[in-house]
Amino acid sequence: MGANADVLVIGAGMAGVTAARELAREGFGVIVVEGGDRVGGRLRTIRDFGPHPVEAGAEFIHGDGAATWSEVRAAGLSTRPCPLVRDTMLSLGGSARWLPIALLHPGSWHAATILRSIASFSPPDVSAREFLDRRRDRGRARLLSEMTLTAHLPGSIDEIGMSGLVSDGVHRLETGLNHRVVEGYDRLPGSVGGDLDICFGFVVETVCWEPDGVTLRSTDGTELSARTAICTLPVGVLESGSVRFDPGLPDGKTSALRDLQMGPVLKILLRFSERFWPRRLAILACGAGPVALYWPVAYGTDTDNPTLIAYATGPRAAALAEAGEDEAAATAVADLGRLFPKVDVRHSLVAHRQVDWGADPLACGGYSFVRVGGVGARERLAAADTGALLWAGSATESSPIAETVEAAYLSGLRAAREVRAMLGA
Ligand SMILES: Cc1cc2nc3c(=O)[nH]c(=O)nc-3n(C[C@H](O)[C@H](O)[C@H](O)COP(=O)(O)OP(=O)(O)OC[C@H]3O[C@@H](n4cnc5c(N)ncnc54)[C@H](O)[C@@H]3O)c2cc1C
Repeated sequence: MGANADVLVIGAGMAGVTAARELAREGFGVIVVEGGDRVGGRLRTIRDFGPHPVEAGAEFIHGDGAATWSEVRAAGLSTRPCPLVRDTMLSLGGSARWLPIALLHPGSWHAATILRSIASFSPPDVSAREFLDRRRDRGRARLLSEMTLTAHLPGSIDEIGMSGLVSDGVHRLETGLNHRVVEGYDRLPGSVGGDLDICFGFVVETVCWEPDGVTLRSTDGTELSARTAICTLPVGVLESGSVRFDPGLPDGKTSALRDLQMGPVLKILLRFSERFWPRRLAILACGAGPVALYWPVAYGTDTDNPTLIAYATGPRAAALAEAGEDEAAATAVADLGRLFPKVDVRHSLVAHRQVDWGADPLACGGYSFVRVGGVGARERLAAADTGALLWAGSATESSPIAETVEAAYLSGLRAAREVRAMLGA
């Protein structure tokens, strides 16, 4: 069968549209195939839940130095800073208190060194549980330390490897100034991918790869061929086995997929009749309870948009998903009642909506982390060891922070360079 294009790109998330746009600009014939009906993948903005856009997936640009800033500016998007650390409230079991007040408690003092011990962690690798046990934190200090390791990563303390957490740069996530995109984060991939030839509804079922060509087959039997292809499928989709590779993937790739674990991430959007949290609250981090983090979407604006996002990862996300949408919302509302005991939170709730990334067959989870002993897995997943089939996606980059929009963007640029080298300028 003749080639349909020079390059096929699997997935129209940030990685896919970036790679495709780079190559299309240079005159290569590029077709992007996307299983869904929109651009953006795990960047998805909801615009029918209240007066302002709400992010179902990625929400923040992490830091002032992120590589994506040039694209944000080129797209003409406006941003709003969100200093997560400065305006954080904390609950270590009881009601919500401002971070400095919570840290004044002597029971929290030991845990204040956690970020330093993470940054200076060195092999041999251990699980987050073993790392915590060695620190001998107790009570509030233990809750604070555990929260630092697991609020973001979607795994249990037995599954998360400390070396992987450090090499993924996870401890750098909340330390800089974060920013929201005012018009909605999905405008970013929308702008990058604006002029591309995208084949929506093409759910890849089989990828046949050879040294000098790749053929994709969709679930409805459609075939496309090209001299090269870039796979940006999320780790969860690769782990699920819903996409078959022919020939099978080499050991480097299969071991990478064993060493990485996609975990559940779930957001509950909660709209209230009025704001009951302090105006300058950026984030409320919880050491105990069913939800790891709460944040108001209107932080830093003058608008009164009383909407909170409840964010749960790993075992907490799995439990909320299992409970079902209404029950999960009731659980979050009851939890907010504990955190703000003087407020009748339940009667203030106007609407709720759940976004469960674990239930999305085109994501199969929120993002991945590195299991104990698995360092190097992201490099193995990225390696150009499958003939004309190359690899991108936010799971294939660990610098500066793995599994972010920036990582996806950088992986797209890298894969485009690899295609260029393969096909010649
Ligand atoms: C809830 C949540 C919050 C997050 N918060 C942040 C944040 O604040 N900041 C940040 O930087 N990052 C955040 N992230 C991570 C970030 O969203 C991702 O790392 C990034 O968007 C991934 O981009 P990608 O292109 O690698 O993958 P994806 O966006 O997943 O793109 C892959 C594409 O492949 C398509 N696809 C899947 N299977 C098939 C198939 N069989 N056939 C064809 N197409 C298929 C999918 O539909 C998708 O469009 C968050 C993620 C989640 C889930």
